[in-house]
Amino acid sequence: MPDTPLAPGLYLVATPIGNLEDITLRALRILRSADRIACEDTRQTQKLLNHFEIRTPTVSYHMHNEGPRADELLAELKQGARIAVVSDAGTPGIADPGGQIAAAAIAAGIAVFPVPGANAAISALIASGLPGEGFTFHGFLPSKAGQRRTALEELARDGRTHIFYEAPHRIADTLADMEVVFGAAQHVVVARELTKLHEEFLRGTVGELRAELAGRAVIRGEMVLLFAPAVQAEGASPPGSSIAAEVARLIQAENLAEKDALKRVARERGIGKSEAYRELQREQNRLR
Ligand code: SAM
Repeated sequence: MPDTPLAPGLYLVATPIGNLEDITLRALRILRSADRIACEDTRQTQKLLNHFEIRTPTVSYHMHNEGPRADELLAELKQGARIAVVSDAGTPGIADPGGQIAAAAIAAGIAVFPVPGANAAISALIASGLPGEGFTFHGFLPSKAGQRRTALEELARDGRTHIFYEAPHRIADTLADMEVVFGAAQHVVVARELTKLHEEFLRGTVGELRAELAGRAVIRGEMVLLFAPAVQAEGASPPGSSIAAEVARLIQAENLAEKDALKRVARERGIGKSEAYRELQREQNRLR
């Protein structure tokens, strides 16, 4: 049966994140019948098109030319073209180009069609074992250590599932930061190489995953990091923070005298004042 002609408009087409079987029948039909496919990397997408014997012309559409190229594509769309947008892998517009042209097309009154399919964040979430009722997808964490720590600290009171894309050369540092912010006992999931031959889910405490990864000669592959922080009481410090850090925070934030800050920390941790003092001294000795 011949394919029904495509309605004019912009098609945001999801492609596989590792397993070619994860392309949908509708995605194949749209890629075959579109006038043009705008690709994050034409060479990358050409491999997919060759595999499925699709001969639609391609044009590059990536982070560095998203603005000017969007104008060109928009001009064609206004003439009634059918343009498909794909990224290297997964769903366009999700930590990938696609969002800017979708917004421009909507503003110009052009129809925008989602063509759903593979996405690393959702694939990781559904097999993570973490709650999928309420979750936040953050894309990539900042690469600078200080900014990354701050971004994590902002989540300490949000008990929903948090999803991040992460790079293999940064995962060890990110888990180290997580240990400082949430404590070594925080449950965490790392989903690696989803839908590929060496797909792997690492589930455990931050401490366990750090030990596991430290034992590997190399850490490779694409990965997604997920966790749901144990919610802390309003005003409490993150469980991973030291007594010294908590005391310093209270002195600064609430203008407390040191002994009152220490009393408060002891109460919040459910320990005696002298025990908190001894722990504070131990921390200070470790730093000497
Ligand atoms: N748009 C894509 C999507 O829908 O998932 C994401 C693109 S983003 C530039 C690439 C990041 O997604 C990778 O660095 C990794 O964190 C994650 N990712 C992509 N494919 C993956 C896979 N097969 N397994 C695990 N993570 C993956």
